[in-house]
Amino acid sequence: MRRLRKAKIVATLGPASDDRTTIQALFEAGADVFRFNFSHGTHADHQVRYNIVRDIEKSLGRPIAILADLQGPKLRVGQFADGKVVLEAGAEFTLDNDPTPGDSRRVCLPHPELFAVITGGQSLLLDDGKLKLQVLDSDGQAIRTRVVNGGVLSDRKGVNVPDAVLPIPALTAKDKRDLSFALELGVDWIALSFVQRPEDILEARAIIGQRAGLLAKLEKPAALQQLDAIVQVSDAVMVARGDLGVELPPEQVPGAQKRILRSCRAHGVPIVIATQMLESMISAPVPTRAEASDVASAIYDGADAVMLSAESASGAYPVQAVQMMNRIISEVEKDPLYRNMLDAQQVTPRADKGDAICSALRSVTQIIGAVATVTYTTSGHTSLRAARERPSAPILSITPQLSTARKLALVWGVHSTVSDKVHNVDQMVAAACSTALNEGFAQPGEQLTITAGMPFGEPGTTNLLRIAEVWPPA
Ligand code: PGA
Ligand code: MN
Repeated sequence: MRRLRKAKIVATLGPASDDRTTIQALFEAGADVFRFNFSHGTHADHQVRYNIVRDIEKSLGRPIAILADLQGPKLRVGQFADGKVVLEAGAEFTLDNDPTPGDSRRVCLPHPELFAVITGGQSLLLDDGKLKLQVLDSDGQAIRTRVVNGGVLSDRKGVNVPDAVLPIPALTAKDKRDLSFALELGVDWIALSFVQRPEDILEARAIIGQRAGLLAKLEKPAALQQLDAIVQVSDAVMVARGDLGVELPPEQVPGAQKRILRSCRAHGVPIVIATQMLESMISAPVPTRAEASDVASAIYDGADAVMLSAESASGAYPVQAVQMMNRIISEVEKDPLYRNMLDAQQVTPRADKGDAICSALRSVTQIIGAVATVTYTTSGHTSLRAARERPSAPILSITPQLSTARKLALVWGVHSTVSDKVHNVDQMVAAACSTALNEGFAQPGEQLTITAGMPFGEPGTTNLLRIAEVWPPA
């Protein structure tokens, strides 16, 4: 089974898409990566999903990536005596550390570490930014505020503090439990929410090691201050526009998205654009034209993947949403302007062997009109660096490691396959030709470009570029 597009689709699973039939339909419609959202559901729910995805993977013979998205330090208010209150604009409202149920004048903020960093003049946003409070003062036990935008505030609604770098780690106690469960399951990617600094990634990396790829969700303005430093230590990045769009004024989100994209493309780090992409498809079978344009723009800009959240997890049209994304991406990729735009964004290779070979690979492939570029990889590094070049021919990635093949399902242009270890160049050429034939990438007599690192199986050794003609099958 071969997809005819380069950019990838991430689909979140949830109550609308938890049965085997729907998950398989999502995959067949074009989902390359399934996201498990650890803000919702029990470990047992994730276990069931995991087993279904792996079963589909086995029956269809295509590697599928699973992304476990950790909730992160999502801040919430406590509870109210009546479940909810109405805050009037202009009134005073206090957040304190008293756990008694709240009323229209006060409520508990059960995050003691916040009181020290919240000061007069800052804003607090409640319930995804629907309500806004201006901080008057804070004495370490109570934060006194004035209501700027009022409305209904109910139990455990989210709190965003856009103006402060919060003294909280990116992994909460719940995240640590979820992380060890997800690693135990065998997920391919871990997404870390509310990343603020590169140290957040390093802390998670110390636990995860190489057991999964580490994806940084950029949804705090503070992260944008250290963008390049965060991108450089991450295996992938997500523009998490839901929370980012609460913490930043809406008009600043598009520019932030483009800056993040540019940084990721420069460093060759896969980038996912997420949230509200086809939001109206939660309840309608077709998207708005503005949503179609948003998905298309992300693709024109060179994103690796676009993501569906509630559209596939809890909406009424999960499969149609994936089909729609597939159609939008395919249409963009047919447009000659897309190629022009990718070429115009071409980024300078690093001064190392791998990038030099991948840059040569791209031009050799183009000059001789090779039908595919074959990357032979152990860690996935060679395929990633080849994808960073955004070549026009497909990248056929071959690895002896199933975990690598799965992880690469997120990456632009990579069709990933698993095959036996090779020990010399002849075996490598044979594996490349037979895989290209079997997977429908080449006909006998057509040419392939192949890259690998020698000695074989040693990560980070990319140093070989070979041209091969596909022979007729024996
Ligand atoms: P979430 O992350 O859905 O886990 O909040 C995505 C976002 O904030 O955009
Ligand atoms: Mn978020």
